[in-house]
Amino acid sequence: MFYIGCHLSCAKGFLAMGKDAERIGATTFQFFTRNPRGGSAKALSEEDIRAFLELKKELGLGPLVAHAPYTLNACAADEKIRIFAKNTMEDDLQRLEYVPGNYYNFHPGSHVKQGTETGIRLISEMLNEILRPGLHTTVLLETMAGKGSEVGSRFEELREIIDRTERSDDLGVCLDTCHVWDGGYDIVNDLDGVLTEFDRVIGLKRLKAIHLNDSLNPLGARKDRHAKIGEGHIGLEALARVVNHPALKNLPFCLETPNDLDGYQREIGLLKSQRTE
Ligand code: FE
Ligand code: FE
Ligand code: ZN
Repeated sequence: MFYIGCHLSCAKGFLAMGKDAERIGATTFQFFTRNPRGGSAKALSEEDIRAFLELKKELGLGPLVAHAPYTLNACAADEKIRIFAKNTMEDDLQRLEYVPGNYYNFHPGSHVKQGTETGIRLISEMLNEILRPGLHTTVLLETMAGKGSEVGSRFEELREIIDRTERSDDLGVCLDTCHVWDGGYDIVNDLDGVLTEFDRVIGLKRLKAIHLNDSLNPLGARKDRHAKIGEGHIGLEALARVVNHPALKNLPFCLETPNDLDGYQREIGLLKSQRTE
């Protein structure tokens, strides 16, 4: 099964996302748990969730990726901002118990002049508070582009967060192709080498999902500007190798390219045509 999908709007609930996925030929999807800037989450409707889970089974959708608001910062210098990140993620994980067995992806954070070491310590301290026994969601650290003081653009940094987290069985990694490229990992000329490095430092068994994006910028630019598939510096050929790589091909792939639903439908079709199996 090729689990390919895109980021969908959660504004109309789960069933609406399932129907959008069906319409555009997606076999998985990603969604924000709430307004991407933070804010309070909509009340969940058990009816909506029941209908969605039915459709999900019918369509054979792969694991879904919930994305935390990207403004959360678990390693901010200001304690109030850190507490807000912790409370929001804790609430999101509670809500995701209604759709068990999926992923919750978050940006590790920006250390804002405190240094990477302090950032890593604060992020794992938060994870140690929110990862409680009985959760049915795997939390994913996203590989970052290294913009500003972002933590997580080096595989070693993600490894250290995992090592400092007690319930690390609940932790995995989501690899964003634009971000690793911007972070200096050459997935165009040496995908095998990058994955070998990932395996050596983190372990490929931790890799649970892929954000499939092209990049507006060259290797190592640390900019984080996504491009449409085939319209950036990574290119269609390299991204086709990503979706066909034996170590990756069974993972869920989520597009986060600048597109509306029709554009996503075209890119999903394009990538399906590139699958070799
Ligand atoms: Fe992200
Ligand atoms: Fe991403
Ligand atoms: Zn990005």
